[in-house]
Amino acid sequence: ASLDKRDPTRKPGTTVRPRVRVLLPLPFPGPFDYAVPDSLAATGLRPGDIVTVPLGRRTETGVVWDHDSVLPPEFAPPPMPTVADGRLKPVAARLDLPPLPDGLRRFVDWVAAYTLSPPGLVLAMALRTTATIPTAPVLGWTIADPPPPGLRETPARRKVLEIVSAHGPLTAAEIARRAEVGPGVVRGLADAGALRHAPMAAPPAFVRPDPNHRPPVLTGQQADAARDLRALAEQGGFSVTLLEGVTGSGKTEIYMEAIAACVARGRQALVLLPEIALSSQWTGRFARRFGAEPALWHSDLGPRLRRVTWRAVADGAAAVVVGARSALFLPFPDLGLIIVDEEHETAFKQEDGVTYHARDMAVVRARVAGAPVVLVSATPSLETLANVGAGRYRHLVLTARHGGATMPAVRTIDMRAHPPERGLFLSPVLTAAITEATGRGEQAMLFLNRRGYAPLTLCRTCGHRMQCPNCTAWLVEHRVRQILTCHHCGYQEPVPPACPQCDAEASLTPIGPGVERITEEARATFPDLRILVMASDTLPGPAATADAVARIARREIDLVIGTQIVAKGWHFPHLTLVGVVDADLGLGGGDLRAAERTVQLLHQVAGRAGRAEAPGHVMLQSYTPDHPVMLALVSGDFEAFMRQEAEQRRPGFWPPFGRLAALIVSADTPDAADATARALGHAAPHGEGLQVLGPAPAPLAILRGRHRWRLLLRTRRDVAVQPLLRHWLTLVKPERGARIDVDIDPVSF
Ligand code: ADP
Ligand code: ZN
Repeated sequence: ASLDKRDPTRKPGTTVRPRVRVLLPLPFPGPFDYAVPDSLAATGLRPGDIVTVPLGRRTETGVVWDHDSVLPPEFAPPPMPTVADGRLKPVAARLDLPPLPDGLRRFVDWVAAYTLSPPGLVLAMALRTTATIPTAPVLGWTIADPPPPGLRETPARRKVLEIVSAHGPLTAAEIARRAEVGPGVVRGLADAGALRHAPMAAPPAFVRPDPNHRPPVLTGQQADAARDLRALAEQGGFSVTLLEGVTGSGKTEIYMEAIAACVARGRQALVLLPEIALSSQWTGRFARRFGAEPALWHSDLGPRLRRVTWRAVADGAAAVVVGARSALFLPFPDLGLIIVDEEHETAFKQEDGVTYHARDMAVVRARVAGAPVVLVSATPSLETLANVGAGRYRHLVLTARHGGATMPAVRTIDMRAHPPERGLFLSPVLTAAITEATGRGEQAMLFLNRRGYAPLTLCRTCGHRMQCPNCTAWLVEHRVRQILTCHHCGYQEPVPPACPQCDAEASLTPIGPGVERITEEARATFPDLRILVMASDTLPGPAATADAVARIARREIDLVIGTQIVAKGWHFPHLTLVGVVDADLGLGGGDLRAAERTVQLLHQVAGRAGRAEAPGHVMLQSYTPDHPVMLALVSGDFEAFMRQEAEQRRPGFWPPFGRLAALIVSADTPDAADATARALGHAAPHGEGLQVLGPAPAPLAILRGRHRWRLLLRTRRDVAVQPLLRHWLTLVKPERGARIDVDIDPVSF
């Protein structure tokens, strides 16, 4: 029954008004009751209908939320109070939009309960407010013909006119964004009569991918794995499969066959990528395989494309969606397959707002949809391997690179034996290798996971360190932009001419390298090489990244220097040498997961080398060449390494052998943070199979001016942490200005 006609507070004799529960995308503990007005009584309201309702003096968009809960009772949030008939307000209107599918609503409830978030905030991710506004024809700006006489031209205006004549009509905001100018420039041109209104082009048609367009010819191991995945997609039903294979073994090729099988059945497929910058090469490859582009979903989509895509997913026109983690919350009515590529990537963990791990939630989404999910990686996470070991996940393995390409040979450069020249960071062994490779007409790459020029600026006279005023963090020099900036809060200031503490002039010195500094060194050492820098701050957006990747593929570049963005699944056929500037970088600090993460990252970087005929070489600059991480990278025996890692975590019930949740206390004063953290400590649960660690200063003890403490709840796997946490949090009232955030399954510990 879609309408709940029972009302426990009803007095005998009063008329019963049909009521519905409506969940609003706001931080309330649950849905509110509303009356179904006469205007809607005839058609009725069904679960999933998107409606507008009054809330105080505002009108809000929400979703009719009556459905059976999928949650065990101890997970379910406390029931919302029931409102008496007389005080019930009516639903204002039903929007002309496809209803939110049942599977998505159940998923929203599940994520909310698992992460201890208000369900409305999870719903907000599914609604993406702008996505639900019905589409009306939109007017954009195009070039006025003829142009107005005597138009004053500036570089900014020329840029705008260029963009508009190439891509118009576009909205003013979109023009400003693409031309990288202020909105005033566009307005000025419109006022001057150089731009005129025109209806925007029709929304992109979502062409159905053709599963038989250009299937690959698969070799032995590949063919077996593809057959297995195709069968899963054809049968449907929930299952989890780990597709593990060395970089370049054809994993992408294979899971595209599963997508083909899913599309052939007329169902929808979702592919999650850790970083949407990756999608350009991916979509190109998809288009060659299927003769049509997939739908894209990420936070950089303009509002219009977002709206169109949301609807295309909701009415089934978008058969395949590739996206960032937020694509999990799209309204697929008929989801038949989920792929999580590079499943080990920590980028799948969302840290702001609702903190969730998209890999784990993809498994939940698949279970709710009754569909298979495939986790793909060359270096699977310990969590996933443990699930394979316990028989919960299936396992497919590819052991060789496609087409006879060999795995790159990895060696360490012991920096104690082969130090760079004074003030430099590249060992002569590495520079010689770069000279040799590029001399043969091959490409080389330098990897350093650190943006900017130098991670620390120090006064040589008094020892003062330039620190962020808002965070426990050093300011990072960005020489190109001539600033010092905080990578945590975005604070920036010009590099001061004198030390702010002792006034010594020209005494501030950069310590350690960032990618800008390595670029400076490389330009001096290799004046003849064509060098390209790939870092998130030098490549603003997916288009710039795609362009950089295309230039590398066209061999317009000899040496690529980059941060973790170069580690992604790019295919660079002419790249044969990868140099890791500081292989020890991720190993400092007390994080238990540091070794696992470093191995995954460096293996991924190494995997860029030698993907075609010429064999690849990888050189790791390290001061600790005997560290298990370096030994694993050199030997390529990750299985042994991961077994060792597992043995270290098993005794203490660290994940994946136990469950972990973090409570982060933050406050605008140290006292409020301290008192709230201590109160949490006093109220901590006790019991069999659980332990509370802390309170201790959080890894960033001050962040954006807020003082932070952390408590960790560690339990055996069979303990349900959510009810424990829910109860614990009712015992503590945060001090004024303090709050407590819950992070289930934190990625660092
Ligand atoms: P992975 O995802 O495991 O890194 P890819 O699927 O990207 O591997 O394959 C690596 C390269 O080899 C790609 O350029 C891909 O097109 C090519 N390749 C892999 N398998 C085949 C095949 N069976 N036929 C043709 N090309 C293939
Ligand atoms: Zn800061």
